[in-house]
Order: sequence, then C-alpha cells, then structure tokens
Amino acid sequence: MSGVAISLLGDIAVLTLDNPPVNGFGSRQRRLLVEAIDAAVADPGVRAIVVTGAGEIFSGGADIREFGKPEAAASPNLRDVIGVAESCVKPVVAAINGTCMGGGLEFALGCHGRAALASALVALPEVKLGLLPGAGGTQRLPRAVGLEHAMNMIVSGEPVVARLLESTALFDAVVEQDVIAAATVVARKLADSGQPTPRLCDRVVEHDNAEAFIQFTRGVVHGQFPREPARLQCVEAVAGSLKPFTEGLSLERGLFVMLMASPESQALRHAFFAERAASKIPGVSADTPTRTISKVGVVGAGTMGGGISMNFLSAGIPVTLLDSTREALDRGVANIRRNYETSVKKGKLKPERLEQCMQMLRTSLDFGDLADCDLLIEAVFETMQVKREVFERMDAVAKPGAILASNTSTLNLDQIAGFTRRPQDVVGMHFFSPANVMKLLEVVRGKASAADVLATVMKLAKTIRKTAVLSLVCDGFIGNRMLEHYVRMANFLVEEGASPQQVDRALEAWGMAMGPYRVGDLAGNDIGWAIRKRRYVEKPTVRYSALGDRLCEQGRFGQKTGAGWYRYEPGKRDPLPDPQVDELIREHRKAIGVTPREFADAEIVERCIYALVNEGARLLAEGIAQRASDIDLVYLSGYGFPRWRGGPMKYADSVGLAMVARRMQQFASQPRGDAAFWQPAPLLAELAAQGKTFNDA
Ligand code: NAD
Repeated sequence: MSGVAISLLGDIAVLTLDNPPVNGFGSRQRRLLVEAIDAAVADPGVRAIVVTGAGEIFSGGADIREFGKPEAAASPNLRDVIGVAESCVKPVVAAINGTCMGGGLEFALGCHGRAALASALVALPEVKLGLLPGAGGTQRLPRAVGLEHAMNMIVSGEPVVARLLESTALFDAVVEQDVIAAATVVARKLADSGQPTPRLCDRVVEHDNAEAFIQFTRGVVHGQFPREPARLQCVEAVAGSLKPFTEGLSLERGLFVMLMASPESQALRHAFFAERAASKIPGVSADTPTRTISKVGVVGAGTMGGGISMNFLSAGIPVTLLDSTREALDRGVANIRRNYETSVKKGKLKPERLEQCMQMLRTSLDFGDLADCDLLIEAVFETMQVKREVFERMDAVAKPGAILASNTSTLNLDQIAGFTRRPQDVVGMHFFSPANVMKLLEVVRGKASAADVLATVMKLAKTIRKTAVLSLVCDGFIGNRMLEHYVRMANFLVEEGASPQQVDRALEAWGMAMGPYRVGDLAGNDIGWAIRKRRYVEKPTVRYSALGDRLCEQGRFGQKTGAGWYRYEPGKRDPLPDPQVDELIREHRKAIGVTPREFADAEIVERCIYALVNEGARLLAEGIAQRASDIDLVYLSGYGFPRWRGGPMKYADSVGLAMVARRMQQFASQPRGDAAFWQPAPLLAELAAQGKTFNDA
C-alpha cells in the first residue's frame, strides 16, 4: 500500500514518499502528500519540511498503473500538489536520494530548495511517450538550469546525473551521501533567513541570444525528428519559459493536451505498455520459480552462435562455444573479438572490458565440456538431421535441470524436443541477426516447455537486455511468418510496375528503418529463395512472384556477393540502382504478360503494411501470438517498424479495421489482385464488422 511516512528531525518534518516500485505519484499518494504537508504546516514545532523517497528512488513520476484511468487526473492532480508545495508558508525542500524523473522532478522543481545525491539521475522523459512535461517542468527547469540545458533535457528526454548540474540553481547542495542531512541544512537556512521562500517561478530565464537559440533549435529538431511532433512542441513549450510564468504555464498546458490526443503519442504509449505486457505469460506467474543460469554453452560458432555468445559475455556470464572443427571455432572467436574491437573503436566499450569478456569465453570440440552449463543454446545448420544429432548429444551430456534451447528459425520445436528425454526443458530462443545488436528475442514455447523454463528465459532476456516476446510453435514464428507476406506483396508490386527503389523509398519515408529490398540485400536473398523453393512444394496453390528466383539464379544474393536488388561498389554498402536489375524486371514482366502501371507511394505502403496486418490477425486467432501488442513489439524491436506508429496491429487499429478490410477488398478486385491474398483474416473481418480493434480482441 502506498504511503507517505512522516518523521521529525528536530524542528524539520521529513516526509518520505513510499510507493513501490518507483514511488510514483499515484492518486492516493498525491492525496497523502498534501495531507502530510498540511499536517506539518499545522504543527507549531515544525519550521520546515523535507520531502524524500523511500529506497533508492526519489520518484519515477506518474504512476503508470493509473495511465489512461480516471485516477490519473483525480483531485488533487500533480499540478495541485506542486502548487501546495510551492505556496507553502513553511520552506519545502526536496532531498533527491536517487532517480528523479518526470513528475518526480516537476514536484522537486516546485519545492523551495533541493539537495541531491551526486549520483542521482534526473530527467523529464515525457517526450519518449510523445508528450511533454505537463506539470510546469518546461517552465521551471529552464529557470533552474538555464535555457540550453533545459532544452536538451526536455527535447531528448535523456537523464542527466545530478553531479553535472551542481553549479546550477536546480540544486542548493549536491552531496556524496546523507542527502537528508544536506536537505535539512538547506531547509533550516531558508527558515532562518527571514526572507520569503525562494520560488523558481519567480525567476526569469536569462540568455544572451534566446530568440536565435530557439530558432536554431527548431531547425535542428525539425530536421532530426520530422515525424515526431512532440519534439517540436517541447521546443515551443521551453521557448514559452521566456514569457511571464503563468503565460508559459498555460502554453505548456495547451500543448500537453494537444499531444495527449496525437496519434504519435498514442502509439508511443502503446509501445511502452506493450513492453510491459509481453512478460506476462499464461501459466507463469511472479511466483513461478526460475533456474539459475551462471554458465552457458553455445553450439555452433557461426553467424548466430558468435553473436548469441556475446550477449552473455557482455552480461558477465561465462560461455563455452562449441563447433565441429577448430577452424570454425577460430573463425567464431575472431568474429567475436572483431565485433568487440569495433565497439572499442567507437568508444562504446572500454578496452579492459573487451579483455574481460574474452576471458570468459572458452571453446571446445567436445560436447562433454558442456556438462556444467545451465543453459545450452543450439545454433547449428538449419536441417532437422543436424538438429537431431546436436540435441541428442546435448541431452546426453547436460546436467539434470539444464535448459536446452534452439535458435531455429523455421523448424518444428516440438519435433526437436522429441529428440531428447527432457522435452519439458526444451525451449526456442530465436535471436535475430546480428544477435549481439538486435533487441528482439522470440521465446518459443513448445507443447511440453515447463513454466519455470519459460520464466527463466524471460528473466534471462532482461539480463542480456533483450526484448522477449512469447510465440507458440509455427513455421516462421511471429516475425518471419508475417514478413513472408510483406515480402511477397513487395514482389507483386514490382512485378506490376513499381521499382525496388520506389518500394524501399515509400516504406522508408513512411517510417520503416529499411525497405524490404535493402533488407534482402543485407540479409541475403538466397534465404528467401530457399524458403520459396520449399513453399513451391509444400504449398503449390499459393502464389509467389518468381522475380526473386530470377535474381538469385544470377548469383545476386546481396551485399555478400556485391550485387542483389542493388549493385555495390567494392567495400561499400551504399545501394546503387542497377540497370541490369531493371532489365531483369522488364524481361520478367514480359514473360508473365504484365503491362506495368504507375504506383502511388501510399498504395505501396498500404499493400505492404496490410499484408503484415492480415497475417498478424491469423497469428492472433491461432494463439501463436498471445496478444496484438506482442506482435507490435516483435515488429518494433526486430524489424525496424517506426515506434511512433506503434506497430502494425496498432497502426491498423488507428486506421480503423473496417477501413483496412475495405481497402483489402479493393486490392483484391484490382486487375492482378489476388483474392486469396486479400481475403481478410476471419478475426480481422469479425472485429471490423463489430467496430472493434485488435487491442480489444
Ligand atoms: P552458420 O552456418 O553461420 O553457422 C552454423 C555453425 O554450426 C557452423 O559454424 C557449423 O560449423 C556449426 N555446426 C554445424 N553442425 C554442427 C554440429 N553437428 N556440431 C557442432 N557445430 C556444428 O549458421 P547461422 O546463420 O549462424 O544459423 C544457425 C542457426 O540460427 C540456424 O538454425 C538458423 O536458422 C538460425 N538463425 C539464423 C539467423 C540468421 O540471420 N543467420 C537468424 C535467426 C536464426
């Protein structure tokens, strides 16, 4: 239960915010704080008030559990609480004992003085949710730290360590320890001064060339974040701090209310909650025990095995890397070292850290060396025969209770689990390439995967800083199964008249980090080719464009062969249009009897994104994905989907499912429209008919 503890240090009342996990300003907490301040004011023995946080956090700001609920704005709201502190007749001083973010910092800014631990992080991160600080933060922070510091903090949302702001009016004291004692000194001084208590709202923002600075910032922010209105509105709100305080405050309010309703903010907030929801799995609760993972074995030292190993080494978990030949191991280790060296060169890793990581890496040719590993991850060739051999050997040597994981992208995990005598200990850990960089980890739940195995892997994902999303077993899991339809659609568009460059440009302008043809060239077009060859046999009635096959028949696998959908200068990665590809496309169209037509970028985007959405709806109906927001998270963290659009399912919800289904029907009736492709998934059709969203499903 949240609370505000009141204690007395002589003539100072110390109010301690206590609302785990981050001392958020929930509705009850706000009410209790006002009551505590009023009680301290009424107590004749109290001369001043110090407010601090329980544990190692001052306050993380708004209580996210109340987001979107009436409690979030219930009286007293945060602006009221800040007003109570700022207008208090006795000095109120914040003792910032640790992280102080968002509404937490806005409250501290309303106090008459502030003392902070030097290591405390302070931030106004609202922009990351497409908002701006709406409780006076944009007006008081510039008055405390100056226009430029405040602008940087508010537009970036990034935290700053208190030590770096020591010389500003934000802090009256910055100390290495005992911040309450320091705050008490500040509070007594204010009480003794006989002067009216100082308030940030009474100060003016000084800057030699404020107008020019703001104009310059507008330009930079507009150039860097053209599709994120909140960044620009943060600039305008901070610019408002040059006006009289109350005028600036009402400007801030107006902008805040406008942003709250913006689709970008709704999408960013959706993404924020999607991240929190993804860890909730049926049959796994907070009480589900987890297994200790202090040593990991990785089988296969290729592209994936190396990157997977780095995740654990970087988190301080020793790894034994196994392959079938010494050459493969040497190559794998050299790749790992080279990747770490690149980080050192970029200044992202200290040289001594590189050596520490490398020292935690052992190599082996003998499965017996994996006997003491708590988790064994297989990343060998993608054939069932090789997986069988490796899983049988892992099963033979692994200690009881060890988790056996497969990084397979397409093979049936239940069949793989069946190669062992412990299917309950088998799980999929589907990393994405490059595995040391990409955030996404699809955790694949087999029919027999035990709850504690899932709980352990979800927890471990946090340790290695991955975004874990649960998927049930199917070909391609969530991400790649949807991607197949997106790429199929891109290829139909090119067959019908668009160019690969136009498709890439249209989707990138819409917000995708990289268009499908640049991605294909990067990942290797041969991967899709191999999958299509399999599909031609498995699903002979499903229509695929053979254009990619024609490309691969010429050995154009992408960057690794110097040519793909684009051509590449030796040693360079810039995609250059290639007349040979244009010719290949022309010939292909002629061969299949297509007269090319012009495409608007908007149609390209709709057809590709709705192809994702339709397959997402099927995954949801089949229960492969637990919730629509999990699908969104897969695309946000693994496929370069723009966060400010919230993910494919959220995007479809924001367009409206009835309109999405209607557009699909229009696409189906086009001259080369594929009725089977555009048949709305039953769940989509049902929700569209009921006026509902995927989020409701
Ligand atoms: P890779 O060819 O680069 O590496 C495979 C490694 O496994 C090689 O070093 C090989 O020597 C070793 N190996 C093969 N048989 C072995 C055995 N019996 N015992 C020990 N070592 C053996 O392959 P990769 O791209 O790293 O892919 C590995 C797995 O990861 C595959 O299942 C693949 O589907 C999956 N995957 C790949 C990607 C990707 O983008 N490359 C992404 C996600 C998942």
